[in-house]
Amino acid sequence: MSDCIFCRIVEGKIPAKKVYEDDEILAFNDINPARPVHVLVIPKKHITSLATATPDDAPVLGRMLALANRIATEQGSPDGFRIIINTGRVGNQEVAHLHIHIVGGPDPVGPMLKRL
Ligand code: AMP
Ligand code: ZN
Repeated sequence: MSDCIFCRIVEGKIPAKKVYEDDEILAFNDINPARPVHVLVIPKKHITSLATATPDDAPVLGRMLALANRIATEQGSPDGFRIIINTGRVGNQEVAHLHIHIVGGPDPVGPMLKRL
């Protein structure tokens, strides 16, 4: 049994509001949304982060990004969105299973980061 919370969602052991699924990718609503549209897209295979991803992971990572516009549009953000991939300690990554945040509309999500 996995102690990774997102692997447990993939296994169906923890509920999630799924918005997209195929054989290697799952997307579901963030439990604590930061914007009206806030979807997490994950590989079903456990990859800890972009810091541990390998060249073999490139196809699924590319597919995740290529799905983002479709998911954002279907979920109510048809005029653009932001992708965030927090990575490791410096990136403030909380869940150690690689995920992309899709955050979006209807209003602009705001400035990227506070300037130094
Ligand atoms: P990060 O800081 O990039 O690792 O983001 C982790 C995200 O996972 C946060 O936005 C959490 O709200 C979200 N999250 C944690 N547990 C769950 C869950 N069980 N279902 C959906 N989203 C979750
Ligand atoms: Zn996992």
